[in-house]
Amino acid sequence: MKDKKVLIPLVVAVCIFFTGCQSSNVNKDVLYQVDLLQSLTLGQYDGVITVEELAKHGDIGIGTFEGVNGEMIVLDGVVYQALGDGSVVVADSKEKVPYATVTYMDKDIEKKDFTANDISDLKNKLDEIVKENGINHFYMVRIDGKCNQIKVRSELKQQKPYKYLDEALSTDQREFVYDNSEGTIVGLYCPPYMDKLNSPGWHFHFISNDKKQGGHILELNGLSGNVAMDKFSELDMYCPDNEIFDSLDLTVNQGDRIKDVEQGK
Ligand SMILES: [Zn+2]
Repeated sequence: MKDKKVLIPLVVAVCIFFTGCQSSNVNKDVLYQVDLLQSLTLGQYDGVITVEELAKHGDIGIGTFEGVNGEMIVLDGVVYQALGDGSVVVADSKEKVPYATVTYMDKDIEKKDFTANDISDLKNKLDEIVKENGINHFYMVRIDGKCNQIKVRSELKQQKPYKYLDEALSTDQREFVYDNSEGTIVGLYCPPYMDKLNSPGWHFHFISNDKKQGGHILELNGLSGNVAMDKFSELDMYCPDNEIFDSLDLTVNQGDRIKDVEQGK
């Protein structure tokens, strides 16, 4: 009996200590990924966490919403939804997310007065920065600036039974071209060995300063702005606990399918 009296306050004290440590010691140098991009391309569009939950894991990133109901841009801790009708809204905190990648932005690398002629020039120039800093790490990039022209896409919400993403996009992709658009490009670089879990290389989304234009970037030209990059080493991936996910054959190579989806073919 004597021991119990000592033990209970001790357990409470230990719990408080660890809870306190957790909240003050969140690891912010990690990529938080919801599901595999390969799973999304095979039609796993069911939301598995809420926008509110996702936002606890980062203040910048990209993704999509339940039923691929638009493109997600997370910027300065706000989750934006660029919808298939071309509008952009702040996502409802209860909206569900099937796929996303977010992190907390640290400006490890900065390049002022950066320019790129088009999207392949952008990729090449960012690849040079990655080569200097280590190709086997993850990078989140943020480019604040303007484009002479930018072409983005979004898509209409899908209903069950879900089609593969390339099939859904072949009919329900919507493209938007904007001239002289000022805003922010949010991009993720995944290293080459991530080809089973995500898209190796670059994946860019855009949102304008007035938050009226946004989507997944297909093309751009005449980009000028300032680049900030966050280099990080850790991946924290959430596997959905649902029937669709467990029915997928994720050993099938999705490389070509992902390329088509990314490039909007
Ligand atoms: Zn995208």
